[in-house]
Amino acid sequence: MDLSKHAGIIVKRLSKGYPDIKCHLEFSNAFELLISTVLAAQCTDVRVNMVMVPLYKSKYRSPEDVLKDGEINFRENIKSINFFNNKTKAVIAICEDLTEKYKSKVPETMDELTSLPGVGRKTASVILGNCCGKKDVIIVDTHLKRVAARLGLTDKENPEKVEEDLKKIISSKEQFYFSMRAGEHGRQVCKAKKPDCENCFINDICPSAFKN
Ligand code: SF4
Repeated sequence: MDLSKHAGIIVKRLSKGYPDIKCHLEFSNAFELLISTVLAAQCTDVRVNMVMVPLYKSKYRSPEDVLKDGEINFRENIKSINFFNNKTKAVIAICEDLTEKYKSKVPETMDELTSLPGVGRKTASVILGNCCGKKDVIIVDTHLKRVAARLGLTDKENPEKVEEDLKKIISSKEQFYFSMRAGEHGRQVCKAKKPDCENCFINDICPSAFKN
């Protein structure tokens, strides 16, 4: 199988299937998306939106606002989010770095973003793709990893290796949207436990169809 050709067909089919894909986290700037992405680990986007959107509007407009309000108040405000204790510490550390090193602006490169405490390539790619106009990024989350493997696009487990494999076969201008759409396909159809192959619109080109 010509893998690049196979990937190109999948890119087209996914873009037809999910034409208006967008981030499930609500945000109005990179700072909000960065904080919400950190908070969304092992929690639902719906919960994070419910808690954070009113807080961004009323009190947390910048890293300084978070630091001024202080760790105790921030923790109290987000206590309905899973792992709120550790996440509070992570957010405070990020806000400190943003104010000390980046003049309170969220940086716009992979190296700078991943230099922030607790920010990995996945979170950095979310920011770069959604807020910085970078389309040559791949958000490797658990859904994308699973779908890419089932579609025969990678046989790697390590997220960085998956990213490398996908970057070799998907054109740079398509990478961000492909990862968003494949991730969505994983949430809606190609689920971890029971993929709905019967109702999957790419079952004719999927090497794992009806095998899971
Ligand atoms: S055919 Fe099945 S395994 Fe393949 S992408 Fe669709 S749901 Fe997933």
